[in-house]
Amino acid sequence: MSKHHIIIAGGGIGGLTTALALARTGHRVTVLEQSPVLAEVGAGIQLSPNASRVLVDLGLHDSLARSAVTPREIVVHSSRNGGIVARTPVGRAVEARYGAPFWVIHRADLLSALAGAVAAEPAIELVLDARFRDASPAPDAITVHATIAGQPGDLEGDGLIGADGVRSRVRTKLRAGPPARYTGRTAYRATVPIERVPDEYRDVTGMWLSPRAHLVHYPLRAGREFNLVAVVEDDWQNEGWSIPASKAEFATHFGLTGRSRWPEAARRLLDLPETWTKWALCGFDSDFEWSSGAVTLLGDAAHATLPFAAQGGGMAIEDAAVVARALEGAPTVSAGFRAYETLRKQRTRAIVEQAVSNGRLYHLPHALALFRDAALKMGVGGQLLDRMDWIYRWHPERPD
Ligand SMILES: Cc1cc2nc3c(=O)[nH]c(=O)nc-3n(C[C@H](O)[C@H](O)[C@H](O)COP(=O)(O)OP(=O)(O)OC[C@H]3O[C@@H](n4cnc5c(N)ncnc54)[C@H](O)[C@@H]3O)c2cc1C
Repeated sequence: MSKHHIIIAGGGIGGLTTALALARTGHRVTVLEQSPVLAEVGAGIQLSPNASRVLVDLGLHDSLARSAVTPREIVVHSSRNGGIVARTPVGRAVEARYGAPFWVIHRADLLSALAGAVAAEPAIELVLDARFRDASPAPDAITVHATIAGQPGDLEGDGLIGADGVRSRVRTKLRAGPPARYTGRTAYRATVPIERVPDEYRDVTGMWLSPRAHLVHYPLRAGREFNLVAVVEDDWQNEGWSIPASKAEFATHFGLTGRSRWPEAARRLLDLPETWTKWALCGFDSDFEWSSGAVTLLGDAAHATLPFAAQGGGMAIEDAAVVARALEGAPTVSAGFRAYETLRKQRTRAIVEQAVSNGRLYHLPHALALFRDAALKMGVGGQLLDRMDWIYRWHPERPD
């Protein structure tokens, strides 16, 4: 007999990983996903060892390794002339150091690996076209009110996890949490066939830093595609998510028109996509109680972050492992949820702060960028990997 029946609102990276982690520890899980199909828009995600370790433990190594790429190295370019200011080997060096791979992967491939494992797990029911509306919580039980295939429906469970993303309804309805706000930064994303990319960029993660903007790129889909993420400080009023942007609009917003300061090599990369998709980057202060009674939050719903440490998905995956372990050792669901929150608060806040500080460093004005580039070149403050070491070496058995 299963220990508890846990309902998860949201079938994204966090929701599906949590469903697997809970099922493997003896719970029955129902995942409500509002989309009628499980799909992720065309874009990539970097999975560092702290996250890949959890996915490997859940048995996903082979399905992910089919399409994930391990970049040879991370290369940081100067904003002034495009010269290399720092480089650090990734590949086998990271796997040897952390005991888990550093992967870059298309989100659709990650989601499809998770969905495949969920489908093979009898203790999980994934309900598509199912939108969480509200819930009536009791101390250790919950009735969830949803709209399923257009019809209202109630579900009874022992606990509810809101994994419904940065604009979480569970957060605002049940935890009196803050609404998501635009951070003044917009991300533009695109993928192109790898054949269109100069050889030197095909198997590395590249970063180009510039005042008020930066570009990150890496290969995807077993090396067949190339992913570009360009972030710019912006005053975009029409906050939105996954909105198509033309090449001309992108060029204007990204400072490629007129007397652009982007180095020629970066301009050539930025010129590759015919269209982009733009995302208003949103956030909120995660300093509120995520858990009360039979309800808790996880992933972006609890602690959305700017993507400048590439850890939003990673934190959601870590959350999944920790909430499953916390429930294992707890007398009740509510005690388990409180223990999970205690274990996650400090680390997730520190990672969100690291992302903010990376953003400041990436977008320094030219005069200060000179000092940053010189410091990076000399390895002041440690090599690139050393800066991330405290994040990458995390292990579910040592969760804090
Ligand atoms: C430009 C950019 C680059 C990034 N790069 C990285 C990276 O390299 N590495 C990394 O780790 N992270 C990265 N991230 C962050 C990462 O994408 C997110 O942190 C991650 O997707 C969060 O997962 P989640 O499951 O918490 O939320 P989401 O992925 O947002 O999933 C939430 C799910 O809930 C569903 N949902 C919403 N409301 C309801 C409802 N009422 N009822 C039912 N279902 C609902 C949604 O349809 C969705 O499927 C990046 C983000 C951006 C914007």
